[in-house]
Amino acid sequence: MSELKCKHALVTGGGRGIGRAIADALANQGAKVSIVSRSAESVDAPFFKANADVTDQRQIDDAFNHARDANGPIEILINNSGVAESAAIRRTGRAMWDRIIATNLTGPFLCTQAVVQDMMDRKWGRIVNIASIAGLHGSAYLTAYTASKHGVVGMTRALAAELQTYGITVNAICPGYVETDMLELAVRNTVASTGMTVEAARQTLAQMNPEGRIVTPQEVAETVIDYCASVMNGQAVILPGGAIS
Ligand code: NDP
Repeated sequence: MSELKCKHALVTGGGRGIGRAIADALANQGAKVSIVSRSAESVDAPFFKANADVTDQRQIDDAFNHARDANGPIEILINNSGVAESAAIRRTGRAMWDRIIATNLTGPFLCTQAVVQDMMDRKWGRIVNIASIAGLHGSAYLTAYTASKHGVVGMTRALAAELQTYGITVNAICPGYVETDMLELAVRNTVASTGMTVEAARQTLAQMNPEGRIVTPQEVAETVIDYCASVMNGQAVILPGGAIS
């Protein structure tokens, strides 16, 4: 067992996809895991579960307090909840923009505010933000998503600088396409807009990733464990591939 044994780790969006792989990996390290999402309580998993929409401060406070009652002060936060929608700029309505920014950027901000006192009190904390390669590069037809993830990388760097004196590290992971429901949505959208076959659409998306392959959720989870078990701070690691600053 690692130094993460018995640490309380809270994973937003931990019920499926990347978040579930992260929750499982943290549990394998001996951490006490809580998962929070809009439908977390219906997930079949051996974690503490609480429903909350990460865009709603009151719901976050309630869910995080219930998680503290179950597992103690929150020492590790994984900001993973997110949504992706694509559209040309002329079709990116205000409602879509607001929904994506609220979930992908305001959500991690609110969740971080909700845990930072716990971490300061302990002079130890780990925050990992699941951003995207779209947090570092411009992606066509993804204006709102790309803006939200650039915001997450910027927030990561600012918080890393601010919180380092409290023993708290803040890092980001910037994967290309990962094998989850979100990828399936991107494949369906590509098929609908180009008329490609499903297999051709998957190949096209894979070619956009470094190394030309789809990332597995477990690779993201392994990187989370690496961050949590080290003193690396303020990094934004691309998957697959190396770190850039
Ligand atoms: P999924 O669609 O499989 O899962 C998304 C998760 O986010 C679900 O658990 C969902 O739970 C939760 N969620 C969505 N909206 C909210 C909300 N308002 N409040 C609380 N929880 C919410 O996506 P992935 O696992 O693929 O994505 C996880 C993260 O990784 C996201 O931030 C995404 O942007 C990022 N990412 C994904 C990539 C990919 O190709 N898959 C590539 C790069 C980054 P519920 O519905 O119960 O609320």
